[in-house]
Amino acid sequence: MKEDIKLLIQLQNKDIELDKLRYRAEAIPKEIEQSSTVLNQYKEEIESSRNELKKLQVSRKEKEVDLESKENDIKKHNLDLNSIKTNEAYKAKLNEIEGSKKQKQALEDEILVFMEQIEQKSLEVKQKEKEFKEQEAGVSGKINILKKELEQVNQKVSELEPARSEFVKKVPGKLFSHYEHIRSGRQGVAVVPIDGENCGGCNITLRPQIINDVYKAQDLVFCDSCSRILYKPSLLEEENKSDIPSEENKTDTKSEANEESVQSN
Ligand SMILES: [Zn+2]
Repeated sequence: MKEDIKLLIQLQNKDIELDKLRYRAEAIPKEIEQSSTVLNQYKEEIESSRNELKKLQVSRKEKEVDLESKENDIKKHNLDLNSIKTNEAYKAKLNEIEGSKKQKQALEDEILVFMEQIEQKSLEVKQKEKEFKEQEAGVSGKINILKKELEQVNQKVSELEPARSEFVKKVPGKLFSHYEHIRSGRQGVAVVPIDGENCGGCNITLRPQIINDVYKAQDLVFCDSCSRILYKPSLLEEENKSDIPSEENKTDTKSEANEESVQSN
């Protein structure tokens, strides 16, 4: 039974590592998307500032056309003056010219205001473009790092998955389905050490009988509350010793298993 639980602990370590990697593999694309969203927001802001700038330029152009036509009016009125016969009509024409000159002045003032606004808006666009470039460099770097990480994570998963399947062959079938069933309902953790008098998974205080059974280690012992498989903490320590050089797990497990059977005899 000790050996069975050791197998399950080893399997669980592999599964926890795989779970972490898969979790990361799901999270990275979302992080990449978030980073792209930041850049897109910058792009949208720049686009809207550019549109405002264009509108201002169009308005200025319109005022300049108005100004030109007003100037032509004034010229025409001045020419008209020569052909006017009566004093009355002459005076009226002069008034008309005066009115046009005022309108011309007003247009020139408006054009000046537009020119100032255009200058400000151009600076704003340039500033935003500069900020975007600075952000873009940082964000692109970040996205590249995330993409590399995703590649590595996927690579690691594709290495660990077959290794896990291979390992599962060592685990007795019924034990494995037990393990899988508990794991699926308990956030991926099916085997836990007892912690003093408590379950190391759900922390409930265990009955003395259960604690005794765990130390005897003759049968699988389950927590009454969370149904996880319980083991004595010293088993984990033994497990950790054999688990440190994880690359050589296979040979280590064998020697560890042999030692264990020698010791228990
Ligand atoms: Zn429990």
